[in-house]
Amino acid sequence: MTIATLQQDAPAALQLSSLVDGEWIDGRDIAPNINPSDLSDVVGEVSVATRADAEAAIAAAKAAAPGWAAASPYVRFEILDRIGSEIVARQDELGRLLAREEGKTLAEATNEVSRAGALFKVFASEPLRATGERLTSTRPNIDVEVVREPVGVVGLITPWNFPASIPAWKAAPALAYGNCVVLKPAELVPASAWAFAEIISRSGLPRGVFNLVLGPGREVGQAIVDSPDVAAVSFTGSQATGRKIAQACVARGARFQLEMGGKNPLVVLDDADLDLAVKAAVEGAYFSAGQRCTASSRLIVAKAVHDRFVEALAARLKALRVGDALDPETEMGPVVSQEQLDIDLSYIEIGRQEGAELLLGGDLLTRPKTGFYLSPALFVGTTNDMRINQEEIFGPVATVIQVDDYEEALAVANDTGFGLSAGIVTRDPKRIRHFKAHSQAGMVVINGSTAGMDFHAPFTGRKGSSYGPPERSYFAREFYTAAKIVYGS
Ligand code: ADP
Repeated sequence: MTIATLQQDAPAALQLSSLVDGEWIDGRDIAPNINPSDLSDVVGEVSVATRADAEAAIAAAKAAAPGWAAASPYVRFEILDRIGSEIVARQDELGRLLAREEGKTLAEATNEVSRAGALFKVFASEPLRATGERLTSTRPNIDVEVVREPVGVVGLITPWNFPASIPAWKAAPALAYGNCVVLKPAELVPASAWAFAEIISRSGLPRGVFNLVLGPGREVGQAIVDSPDVAAVSFTGSQATGRKIAQACVARGARFQLEMGGKNPLVVLDDADLDLAVKAAVEGAYFSAGQRCTASSRLIVAKAVHDRFVEALAARLKALRVGDALDPETEMGPVVSQEQLDIDLSYIEIGRQEGAELLLGGDLLTRPKTGFYLSPALFVGTTNDMRINQEEIFGPVATVIQVDDYEEALAVANDTGFGLSAGIVTRDPKRIRHFKAHSQAGMVVINGSTAGMDFHAPFTGRKGSSYGPPERSYFAREFYTAAKIVYGS
């Protein structure tokens, strides 16, 4: 199957396989990659990699590591820039593929692909900017040098909700700083990762420097995490898997970095611009079908504006166009899978049983094509101790928590085991200043949506959301390089 077929309306299934040591390899079984907007559309057929394939990928990366670590910074620049340029040039076609396999809208998917390409271009010039430091020793005739070296082989384990940008924001800095990569994307989104790997395989990167393994987390992912030859693991996914990965990495002394979701608050105060608040809530809680770690699934609203906010939000949600991700009119696509749909529906039931009022949504929707369509659900009359306010649902389900004043809003916003993003809508500079200082989230947004951060800015959470240095921007160097301190004259 050639890449040109991606552009057709009803293309035949792509044959998706893993890239190990520069070769496309056959796996053990074949698994279908299904379009959640149209279950009759098979996006791809995945040749599923095994533990042995992952081990071969790690061995290839290990063998390629010395050469890539020693590669000229200009060579690294040219290759990464070439990869980024091709991704950007093909953003419409790759965005369509992403929307087909994940279910986010075409606009969201195309934008994500363009950001993924930009991330390669941003990190392309990092090798040319690398600097060291020299300290004055306390002893005579000795210099103290601080240099940065690649870590070695890095394992990148990524989730399904950002099939292009998360692999890009891990792989681009990993390669730029001279590491070799084994990427294991989520099982639900093999096609976007495969398309990237196909571009990378033609970029001039030496064989073995970048490897892709398409396989199950418990087998292929676990092989990466357990391998003594993988020096560092960067993971984005669920808290449960993140904790397992942390234990395995601690046990063998590997470096690791985890991004594990959120239960993010959007605070709406009594002086808020309500149009802006509703826009921020809809975008933050429901765009990408709520399947973003930064989604504002808890809407914390001051009593004085509660009823007006809820009424306006409900009206907007009733009008939200839920449909096929590829239809340009669609504002919210389907949820990603039957499993995720079942989770969403189970939390809607849990919310009801906890005494929350389901004001609207949570219904399975019928569309011309059969898919995982769920209407946006809004709970009101909730309290922060309910499970629907403490556990990450990862679907188009948000709750409203009414509070008396700013002080209570801040306390409720921070009363969570997560700490990824937080937002506030208010016109009061004093409360803005206070919220910026006292929010316990890694990323704070004033008068905007809690989701959709700039691709070139650091990305980080606190508490149960993240572990290790922030991702992206200049922080990426902390994770993808190891410092060496050299004493001598
Ligand atoms: P989600 O519930 O959003 O799918 P997961 O944490 O299960 O999140 O998955 C995120 C990524 O972690 C996926 O690529 C998945 O295959 C991988 N994964 C799952 N289990 C393991 C594991 N035991 N070891 C390594 N990776 C895993």
